[in-house]
Amino acid sequence: MKNLFVKKKECCGCGACVDVCRKDAVRMVIDREGFRYPKIDRELCVDCGRCEDVCPIKKKSPIKEGSRQYFAVQAKDENVRYASSSGGMFPILAEYVFRQQGVVFGAAYDKNMRVVHREIHSREELDSVKRTKYVQSSMKGIYRKIETRLKEEQWVLFCGTPCQAEGLRLYLKQPYPRLILADLVCYGVPSPGIWGDYVKYLEEKHGGKMTDFSFRDKRMRDSGHTCAYVIDGQEYSGSLYADEYCRMYFTNHILRPSCHDCKFCTVERNSDITIGDFWGIEKVKPEIDDGMGTSLVILHTEKARDIWEAVRDEVSWFACEERDVLQPRLTGPTEAAKSRGLFMALHRMLSFSQLLRFHKALASGRALLKKLKR
Ligand SMILES: Cc1cc2nc3c(=O)[nH]c(=O)nc-3n(C[C@H](O)[C@H](O)[C@H](O)COP(=O)(O)OP(=O)(O)OC[C@H]3O[C@@H](n4cnc5c(N)ncnc54)[C@H](O)[C@@H]3O)c2cc1C
Repeated sequence: MKNLFVKKKECCGCGACVDVCRKDAVRMVIDREGFRYPKIDRELCVDCGRCEDVCPIKKKSPIKEGSRQYFAVQAKDENVRYASSSGGMFPILAEYVFRQQGVVFGAAYDKNMRVVHREIHSREELDSVKRTKYVQSSMKGIYRKIETRLKEEQWVLFCGTPCQAEGLRLYLKQPYPRLILADLVCYGVPSPGIWGDYVKYLEEKHGGKMTDFSFRDKRMRDSGHTCAYVIDGQEYSGSLYADEYCRMYFTNHILRPSCHDCKFCTVERNSDITIGDFWGIEKVKPEIDDGMGTSLVILHTEKARDIWEAVRDEVSWFACEERDVLQPRLTGPTEAAKSRGLFMALHRMLSFSQLLRFHKALASGRALLKKLKR
């Protein structure tokens, strides 16, 4: 009988194993940290091994040969850039696919503010899948849908975390000329359970229903270092670093265990295109850093180069060297906070507002320690 993982860090939660099972013997269950993990129903399992074959962590896939190209990119249309988290490369790719009558798969909020991948068919729906959501998205049913669309010979753009993109590549088994596989530079994915607690906490605090949360709002022209949310039509905004959820994320207390061991924190990917924020643009080309976001784009394949030729007039761009783009998440995974274990244990015992107070105390303790060391 198969064992999908022994230690938690051996499962990235991409969910490809769920969709690939012909017997529907694999389902996701939520653990005590709020992450989804696959569980095999031993009664239904026929031991075929498909679930292991699509696992991005178990499978050692050789990286495709070929030279990579690096670009700094800004969508020429200011509205496109404003509505996206970085320079707007993702919507440019999406528009390209819509021109081919294709479909796009990206991460959106559902009506309960859970983050789920969904299929969209037109630019009218594009807003829902734009913008970074710092929460691990659910991929339930998405691998199957994408395979169906590809077999119908439609163009498909998939954009997600590198482990989801690799899960999809392994799931499909064969290359499809009409699939554009785009993966993100990724800091790591936080717990959907803790995100759900945070949404509830804010809803109780403001007495209403949350309908949107923008992690990288650009109204201050500060490269998206503002976040904003809407509850019952009322908008609230503030610094990304003052937001309690983002602070738990960026102090590395709520990332999935596998993220701290991630093998995709490199420029060597099996996707067609990697997109991210161009960190350090203020040093590489300060004159274009207007606080409205610049995308880092890495082209890995011939297909990506062809698409780039087709869309590059819609963006301002310049080519750069690998050394210009090597931000921390392209050289190694995010390190877990030393207090992550304690924090997650307390998450099970405390109320959510007590947990937030504990995190605040941890942060001030760290600040005090820093001062004392000086
Ligand atoms: C969890 C996470 C961590 C990230 N960490 C980094 C980092 O350390 N360094 C860096 O340079 N860039 C990082 N990024 C990528 C960056 O924030 C932008 O998403 C990326 O540059 C694309 O921006 P854009 O302007 O081209 O498109 P946008 O219009 O902003 O589109 C964002 C794209 O990301 C997808 N997406 C959004 N949320 C999720 C999610 N939770 N799971 C999967 N896909 C999602 C959307 O579907 C869409 O395709 C991260 C993104 C996420 C989701």
